[in-house]
Amino acid sequence: MSRFLGNVCKLCRREGMKLFLKGQRCFTNKCAVEKRDYPPGEHSARRSKVSEYGLRLREKQKLKRIYGLMETQFRFVFERAERAQGNTGENLLVLLERRLDNVLLAAGFALSRNQSRQMISHGHIQVNGRRVTIPSYLVRTGDVITPQDRERTKKVVRDAVEVNRSQTVPGWLEVDRDTHIAKVQNLPRREDVMHPIKEQLIVELLSK
Ligand code: SF4
Repeated sequence: MSRFLGNVCKLCRREGMKLFLKGQRCFTNKCAVEKRDYPPGEHSARRSKVSEYGLRLREKQKLKRIYGLMETQFRFVFERAERAQGNTGENLLVLLERRLDNVLLAAGFALSRNQSRQMISHGHIQVNGRRVTIPSYLVRTGDVITPQDRERTKKVVRDAVEVNRSQTVPGWLEVDRDTHIAKVQNLPRREDVMHPIKEQLIVELLSK
């Protein structure tokens, strides 16, 4: 879990960019990165030149942190992206976007990725009426995501939806904020991924 140094979360400070680790907070003026006109790295102004390898490695670390993945999990997703048809970098981003923990966050049903994961692994979330406890579950077109019909769960989602009310929901999801139903309209495409990631650098780093 990231810590705060001043108002900039430690990992964002280290990476020199917004990593969107704190849910809705990242979209408000509580995020100190918004208030600065230079990258939030601790010594960003006098950073020395980074090697090609360093740039690629940094891009991979950024993506891992944004989606909260460990190296092994990340490699697993990358290999899957490589095996799939089409552009590996785009496949990678789309696979990460389709994770159930990400969908819950994008729908505004959770306040952070950690909370989203916890809700899923504790059995509070259903996909098409069936409980799914795996945060890495990949949603498909037509999937309907709902919280379990328990007062405690409904309250957590209600509170998150309230905080996230001004959050823009990605076009590939349809979210009813009153009934707390999210539907996958279509699979995300590269242009739906708003994080500033240069996925080609990651492909160059990891491709054999
Ligand atoms: Fe913190 Fe989010 Fe801003 Fe990063 S983007 S510094 S995680 S509030």
